[in-house]
Amino acid sequence: MKTFCGRANPTTGVMEWIEEDENYDYHQEIARSRYADMLHDKDRNTKYYQGIRAAVSRVKERGEKAIVLDIGTGTGLLSMMAASAGADFCYAVEVFKPMANAAVKIVKKNGFHDKIKVINKHSTEVTVGPDGDMQCRANILVTELFDTELIGEGALPTYEHAHKYLVQEGCEAVPHRATVYAQLVESKRMWSWNKLFPVRVKAEDGEKIIVSPSEMEKCPGVPSVCDIQLNQMPSSDITILSDVVTMFSVDFSKPVRSAPTCYRVQLEPVKSGKAQIVLSWWDIDMDPSGTINCTMAPYWVKSTSAFQWRDHWMQCVYFLPNEEPVLQGEQVCLTACRDEYSLWYKLRKASGEEENKANVRVESPVCRCQAHLLWNRPRFGQLNDQSRTCQYVRALTKVLKTDSVCLCISDGSLLPVLAHYLGAKQVLLFFLLFMLLFFSFKFFKANHLEDKIKIIEARPELMTSSHLEDKKISVLVGEPFFTTSLLPWHNLYFWYARTAVTSHLTSNVTVLPQSASLHVMIVEFQDLWRIRSPCGTCEGFDVRTMDDMIKNSLNFRESKEAEPHPLWEYPCKSLSDPQEVLTFDFRETVPQHCLSTEGSINLLRKGTSHGAVLWMEYHLAADISVSTGLIQISNEKGNCEWNPHCKQAVYFFSSVIESESLSDLPSAITYAINFDTKTGEIAMDFKL
Ligand code: SAH
Repeated sequence: MKTFCGRANPTTGVMEWIEEDENYDYHQEIARSRYADMLHDKDRNTKYYQGIRAAVSRVKERGEKAIVLDIGTGTGLLSMMAASAGADFCYAVEVFKPMANAAVKIVKKNGFHDKIKVINKHSTEVTVGPDGDMQCRANILVTELFDTELIGEGALPTYEHAHKYLVQEGCEAVPHRATVYAQLVESKRMWSWNKLFPVRVKAEDGEKIIVSPSEMEKCPGVPSVCDIQLNQMPSSDITILSDVVTMFSVDFSKPVRSAPTCYRVQLEPVKSGKAQIVLSWWDIDMDPSGTINCTMAPYWVKSTSAFQWRDHWMQCVYFLPNEEPVLQGEQVCLTACRDEYSLWYKLRKASGEEENKANVRVESPVCRCQAHLLWNRPRFGQLNDQSRTCQYVRALTKVLKTDSVCLCISDGSLLPVLAHYLGAKQVLLFFLLFMLLFFSFKFFKANHLEDKIKIIEARPELMTSSHLEDKKISVLVGEPFFTTSLLPWHNLYFWYARTAVTSHLTSNVTVLPQSASLHVMIVEFQDLWRIRSPCGTCEGFDVRTMDDMIKNSLNFRESKEAEPHPLWEYPCKSLSDPQEVLTFDFRETVPQHCLSTEGSINLLRKGTSHGAVLWMEYHLAADISVSTGLIQISNEKGNCEWNPHCKQAVYFFSSVIESESLSDLPSAITYAINFDTKTGEIAMDFKL
């Protein structure tokens, strides 16, 4: 059997449906899953174990049998904890079939098969009764169904249903309670992920300012959660405007309501400033008294002893619909609204009379300006990066002449506007994302450029000389950036598009960037290694079946794949110098043959080689380059600074080499890298 998977083709820039082995999807799911990260989360695991032990004891003290319902059992971990804590029986429900199968194996291997029944169903399908999946209702409800936003994985409807149909009234719940916290802040850095700031361009005839359409100013943006490793955000990038406030709590031992609702809190700013962002996180109390607490609070809130690195639970950044000046000591009203699966925030000046709760509209934010559909948050950040824009301005100034006919190939780019201001006679823009044409018109109109920049509504390979009014293109520019790109080299689509329009270029055309290069560096991650590293045992339970399953899924394809990660969120140190491994000359067309290279990378620092990081650098013009990866290695320890707006490619080594001293290190790691010009993909292999 075959299944179809949607994927962007880097040679055409369009989404295609690719036939894959029917197992591909689930292997992807397991290989990229957070199970390993959860099993490495010691803080979470020990607290669940304590909470489960305490709940089982409370039930036993009442002289009752302890019947556990574990919804979303995954590896079966929490059920095994319950069984070894003395529970009489556990129903372990898991909807994802490969995981349910793994749970059966793991439970058996650990000797709990007579105490734990794995049910491969969604909890809402589970039946109770003599012929049902469960003999009777449970009196202990255990789950771990939370994401960074707490409710994004459907915890609320699942609990609502479980209390109605699967557990007894007055049951124990682990966790017992979750609480969501919020803090109001001003942060130019984070605000730049949501709004386009005016872009200043120094042109020959004075400074020009690129502005955004007025609809953008008040647009609430998209509802999808912005979850980040907030602990990587330096305090210098955040101005705290309020104390931490409790927005709401959910008691999981009582019936839960999932229907949309709002929670309001009055708060008094501790500082005057521009309220732009609500930072939010949650904690869970494993027991009713709240003595066993697991918190996601960021570094400035919690003590360092509570620190546990994890990637499956981070912190949330909510953007207020527009920035609101607040004054120290002058009360404001913060409202958190939620539907079944997501949250959003509003801020209002506190008025004397309390607004009727029923009047508060619980409507999730929708982007009305379209910019938030065209640009995702890192892309906003990139476009707002004035020093990056300066590089492009400098490069364009070098290559543009008054008679230049300029064609831009990049998604949602400011380059056409820059090119116009910097004197190109005519600027044409390929529009690759047709659905967002409307926004581009509005954007050019806001800048009075609607007659100055021509949008070509055709794909590069379908461009004809009539689109160009019989002119030839003398300057071809790209950032390059395409929204469908996942890995750094997918932006090489620029090269394919450049190849497709070759017949429309003048013989001495200038291509900007003139070339790109692929760079590699060997790193030791501070924490990210955990997400792909085997666990062995977890709280004394043998979970190697899970390790094998992940390994098997990672190796499902013959060559392992690199995966995208925004490394500014994941500190690492370099163990080698960065090394340029391939170059792509955009002045020439894409060659027919593959581009391959082999070589070795010297290890310079002691440490554990967890993997290789790969990124692209674009050489815009002579002496002007931009890096989408490494910005600099900041000290002799090898700490790295990464481009904060891009994801880099990470290739995790299947076995790591650890060394205390340089002398017992292999001096080098060898690599073989192949860019397949037919598919636009890069395959790689590293040998330690
Ligand atoms: N309990 C495990 C795994 C938690 S991950 C642990 O703590 O380590 C959450 C799991 O719940 C996933 O495997 C997911 O497939 C499953 N899941 C989520 N909602 C579910 C539901 N309503 N019914 C059954 N399984 C569910």
